[in-house]
Amino acid sequence: MNPDEEHLSETPDVAGAYPRLSDEQIDLLSRRGEKQPVQRGDVLVVEGQRDRDFLIVLAGKVAVIEGHGTPKARTVRVHGPRRFLDELGLLTGQPSFVSMVAQEPGQVLAVPLRALHELVREEPDLGDLILRSFLTRRELLIGGITGIKIVGSRFSPDTRRLRELAARNRVPHTWIDLEEDPGAEELLRRLSITAKDTPVVIWRDKVLRNPPNAELARVAGLRRSGHDEAMCDVVVVGAGPAGLAAAVYGASEGLSTVVLDAVATGGQAGTSSRIENYLGFPAGISGAELADRAVVQAKKFGADLNVPVMAVRLGWHDSDQIVHLDDGAQLRTRTVVIATGARYRRLDVPRLAEFEGTSVYYAATFMEAVFCERQPVSIVGGGNSAGQATVFLARHASRVRLIILHDELNRDMSRYLVDQIERLPNVEVLRHTEVTELIGDDGRLQTLGVRDTRTGERQEIPTTVLFAFIGAQPCTGWLASSVALDERGYVLTGAQVRTARQPVMLETSRPGVLAVGDVRSGSIKRVASAVGEGSMAVRLIHDHLARLGRVADRQRSGT
Ligand SMILES: Cc1cc2nc3c(=O)[nH]c(=O)nc-3n(C[C@H](O)[C@H](O)[C@H](O)COP(=O)(O)OP(=O)(O)OC[C@H]3O[C@@H](n4cnc5c(N)ncnc54)[C@H](O)[C@@H]3O)c2cc1C
Repeated sequence: MNPDEEHLSETPDVAGAYPRLSDEQIDLLSRRGEKQPVQRGDVLVVEGQRDRDFLIVLAGKVAVIEGHGTPKARTVRVHGPRRFLDELGLLTGQPSFVSMVAQEPGQVLAVPLRALHELVREEPDLGDLILRSFLTRRELLIGGITGIKIVGSRFSPDTRRLRELAARNRVPHTWIDLEEDPGAEELLRRLSITAKDTPVVIWRDKVLRNPPNAELARVAGLRRSGHDEAMCDVVVVGAGPAGLAAAVYGASEGLSTVVLDAVATGGQAGTSSRIENYLGFPAGISGAELADRAVVQAKKFGADLNVPVMAVRLGWHDSDQIVHLDDGAQLRTRTVVIATGARYRRLDVPRLAEFEGTSVYYAATFMEAVFCERQPVSIVGGGNSAGQATVFLARHASRVRLIILHDELNRDMSRYLVDQIERLPNVEVLRHTEVTELIGDDGRLQTLGVRDTRTGERQEIPTTVLFAFIGAQPCTGWLASSVALDERGYVLTGAQVRTARQPVMLETSRPGVLAVGDVRSGSIKRVASAVGEGSMAVRLIHDHLARLGRVADRQRSGT
């Protein structure tokens, strides 16, 4: 039966995702919105619609439908009186991934988006209820709908690139594996696409053949088409924990704040399946959820987030800073917060490039776990990231080998992880061992050649997926010689900078440019310290802006 014609019962509230509003809450919203009658079949929001109101069902029922108007239409949920519609994308400016269609004559309350943002700021209880349910709804939507389809081979680095962008940015999507999915070939035939044109991205009437990241990001509503040329108070480069903290504090304290990230919000923390030592989350929190929460918080205060946008150069004009972007645009700003963190070092082993993107990974999230199901997996590294990956992947892989150069697992790894690893029956720790060879064909890894560093003995280990967590290198290539760096490429700040002018704490050799988090020379590589530095930076920016203001006043008065 066409879902529009079914008699549909309401979706039960799952994990607080679909609360019913009280009279008082509806009253608060009514002051900011307009009541509208609806008829059965009225499409209140159409799939792909970007600008839309926040809708509350006052009477009748509204169905949430994927593929409305097509033979594949599927009702995802049904909401009745006192429930509000939509999900996280409404606040983050993404298009709707579903249509919303009235099932009965009734009435909705339409609150303009601007008024919703105001309400979230001014009515914390109601704002919090909406934000929490929107976050849960996004989680339910991912995996609950098809969303954007990515059709491609698991052995194609471009498939991996596109899936990574979608997964890291928590875009509802489905990967159709060219090798494994029986429907893949038929789908491509219908679209007259050959396997060599894959990967393809399909959403609604759009079919993109191996699109660059920026194009997928635009379709998913992650990237705006242009940047404001107007001067802003602060540009935060990097949206890991440090950058997001700077964004939340900057925007909440009234600074016009633009945030960029080359890949996704969350940074390295976003690739962690569970952060167990971040204050206030006794049961741990996934990096993705921490990032989502921070993004909503930053947007709530008016920060302008842009992903994926890469900074390629830092320049200046008088006392203004100019951030040059990969799309040729430039951002003019009074201050810059460098929060570009670090990325994992690549293994120094022959044939690495052949297997990267297909069998060798630098993050262990649910996306990579798909490739590890019942497979022999090896992990190189002795720190906490390698430990977390071991615990997480042991749930998916047939066997996990953790390869460390030294003898003592708890030398660089927290005790709680060592304890967990020692209890896992399918994990083996190979001590005093280094990887010397990658063996396989057609970009598919089959075996690792490893060497015992004490005896020189060589052995082969079956491995189809290899993870490397062997320390990090700073993402400072884009800074060239614009700020002073230490001998390892990390940014020098405060007393570390040897110039006649003594920069303040976190300030680089360039006045008004601060560095926070993992990218900073001597920083503690932790989520909490990155968040702390990001928030401190904003206090220092206020001081800098006040100094600039005083200089401008003096120049105006000619003193
Ligand atoms: C798998 C893993 C597990 C971890 N687990 C824990 C844990 O349990 N507890 C803990 O305290 N710490 C943990 N850490 C460490 C923690 O995640 C980092 O210390 C923290 O993320 C650093 O934050 P940051 O914002 O300084 O940098 P990052 O998180 O590195 O973020 C930097 C961001 O900048 C972006 N970027 C880089 N260059 C550019 C550019 N040119 N233009 C635009 N954007 C750019 C990157 O895409 C990235 O998103 C873990 C790290 C990893 C990798």
